[in-house]
Amino acid sequence: MDYKLRCTGCKTGYPPDTSFPRCDICGEPLEVETAFPACIREDEPFGSTIFARYGEFLPFSDEGRGLTLGEGFTPLVEAHPLAARFHVGRLFLKDESRNPTWSFKDRGTVTALAHAVALGYGTIGTVSTGNMAASVAAYGARAGLNAVVLVSAGTASEKINPIAIYGARVIRVRGDYGSMYHKSLEIGRSREIYFMNSDVPFRVEGSKTIAFEICEQCRFNVPDFIVVPTSSGGNFRGIVKGFEEFKRAGLIDRLPRFVAAQASGCAPIYKAYRERQEIVTPIDEPRTIAGAIANPAPPSGNAALRKIYETGGIVAAVGDDEIIEAQREMAGQGIFGQPAAAVPLAAVKRLVREGEAHPDHSIVCLVTGGGLKYTAAFAHHRFSVSECDLDDLSRCIDDVL
Ligand SMILES: *Cc1c(COP(=O)(O)O)cnc(C)c1O
Ligand SMILES: [Zn+2]
Repeated sequence: MDYKLRCTGCKTGYPPDTSFPRCDICGEPLEVETAFPACIREDEPFGSTIFARYGEFLPFSDEGRGLTLGEGFTPLVEAHPLAARFHVGRLFLKDESRNPTWSFKDRGTVTALAHAVALGYGTIGTVSTGNMAASVAAYGARAGLNAVVLVSAGTASEKINPIAIYGARVIRVRGDYGSMYHKSLEIGRSREIYFMNSDVPFRVEGSKTIAFEICEQCRFNVPDFIVVPTSSGGNFRGIVKGFEEFKRAGLIDRLPRFVAAQASGCAPIYKAYRERQEIVTPIDEPRTIAGAIANPAPPSGNAALRKIYETGGIVAAVGDDEIIEAQREMAGQGIFGQPAAAVPLAAVKRLVREGEAHPDHSIVCLVTGGGLKYTAAFAHHRFSVSECDLDDLSRCIDDVL
């Protein structure tokens, strides 16, 4: 399909083979301008591949098909007891832990990878110590490309091993972690390495498919709120863009209210929103259990804010105690997300308390990544485990029930 790239800030256009993700003039992130008309390919079933079913909305023809590991088409699980408990109409959990490397990152990795392959790159890279690193490492292996993953110097080996298992080259870099984002893009530009960092345009394209699936799973009755745990802002941008494109295609008739949910220990976008600023100022030191959303200098922070203001969205922030409680409540519904993935549910309670969400509203929370990725969170919960002799077992079972 045809497409152009356009700056989300100053709106300057760029040619489609541009791999540098930011505007040379104003420094804001670029995005893909989708060509219309576009429609869902009904001959490709829901559950085939995101390239097959949503290909008309994506800037690729066929490149993605050989690269997929089956990302996307995750369940939208309705949680009646939570809706009742929090006094909202309907509450849904979009379980992104079902992706190939247990987080939504795989959607954007496969679309960015398709772009890298189309442009002839032999090496891909990213800056991350968590979900994105594992995702890029896995898809690099899948495509037979070199993958370089930059982590900060102090990163523990239990976080590096799940990246290294895929054969990626892991480099511990001493120095400011925030600067690695921009430095890696510069190195990528001169050394022919496609750095698919958090919010690059072709990663944002993959995140759109979350919105597409939610629309389909709700039979095109758009929910009232979509709550997205937000760090760099890339996923948030993709989800908004996905709904906007389905509206433009005539598949839905309105947009939901978008809620960017942050952890109060790292909430630069929330701070700017509270103060009605247009520019997100980096914070000093993130301090939160939700490590997957602890970017102190979000590269798509301004772009996310623009969308919040333009669409009447909300930014919310929740504390670690609320996050841990929400993690337990989700697990009580059979869904075990990591702390960052529990932030939306915690934010829903705030929305109710602050009078934004009502008993007739339907709400979708994005459960962005699986709980087994961060077992350190167990230390914040209290579980009771019993022990007994085999002879006492039936009495013991009576006791625990
Ligand atoms: C990356 C990530 C996020 C944040 O996404 P951004 O695009 O950086 O805003 C949220 N939750 C989980 C589990 C993640 O891995
Ligand atoms: Zn610009």
